[in-house]
Amino acid sequence: MADLKNEFSWSFSQARDFSACPRKYYWQRYGSWGGWEEIAPKKVRDAYRLKQMKNRYALVGLAIDSAVKEALAKIKAGEEVTFEEAYKTARNHLVKAWYEHKSKMWEKNPKKYTCIKDLYYSEFLMDDEESRQAWGSFIKERLTVCLENFFGMILPKIRPYLERGELVPIGQGDFESDSFTIGGLKIFAAPDSVIKTEDTFLIIDWKTGKPQQYYDYQVRVYGIWAQMKHDVPADMIELALAYLPDGTWKNVPYDEDIAREVFDFIRENVQDMSDKLKGRDIALNEPLNIKEFEQTDRLETCAQCNFMELCQRQFALASKEQF
Ligand code: SF4
Repeated sequence: MADLKNEFSWSFSQARDFSACPRKYYWQRYGSWGGWEEIAPKKVRDAYRLKQMKNRYALVGLAIDSAVKEALAKIKAGEEVTFEEAYKTARNHLVKAWYEHKSKMWEKNPKKYTCIKDLYYSEFLMDDEESRQAWGSFIKERLTVCLENFFGMILPKIRPYLERGELVPIGQGDFESDSFTIGGLKIFAAPDSVIKTEDTFLIIDWKTGKPQQYYDYQVRVYGIWAQMKHDVPADMIELALAYLPDGTWKNVPYDEDIAREVFDFIRENVQDMSDKLKGRDIALNEPLNIKEFEQTDRLETCAQCNFMELCQRQFALASKEQF
């Protein structure tokens, strides 16, 4: 097999990392590259392992995403799905993650087996009954509220689209199906759910946390994805953020002018990222020295970051605000 090359690409999550902490962006993108190889230096392997960790918010998001997608597919096929069935699907994901963490199999294969950040950094303690229950209660409450709101408030909005349209298969988690190219730049983007009808291409992003203004940008990148990857005209595209913790639905405007603004944002962002490359050469994609990737001084950002161990900033957890 040919050697994998660390090609330059852009994604919304990379842009978010870059803006939150350039050092985090470094670990995600360069410092962990090749860490799947047993012969890689320890620091690279550590970075690769830490990069795969998931906190409770991410785990709930993934579990809900899976339960919602399964429910939509069944409803489209003419079956009805109950809250209890969806809850069971989501819960199974969380239980699996818990046991994978406990087994420590992630030490050998961090990509395949889940390591839970909250437990790894002792934010919650697996061996302490009270702490274990607190983690479980958080998960249970979040799953319950999100799925109740999905069935009670969001699904009724989606049903008319489902009845007259089709679910569009989304990327399979591989590089090619989750990306598209503009002017030679590879962009990674894969929306959560898409329903195509005769006159609309509805893109929905499921959110299981607090509303953030930058999510508008994220779904607008999916608008460009629809135009480039599926050849959909801008005036057919509808973008929506479905906030499951309170059941709100936000339509995000999109048209050709907005698409241009988003693309300008991507271009400027790529220029900033290329400032951190040798010769500013994105074809070469070789990072400057790690010191050129500044560490944030916002400890609340560190407290949410998987790479605290590498930056020796575990103390940030002590100053953590609730988020
Ligand atoms: S621990 Fe803090 S400084 Fe280090 S990469 Fe994460 S956010 Fe940046």
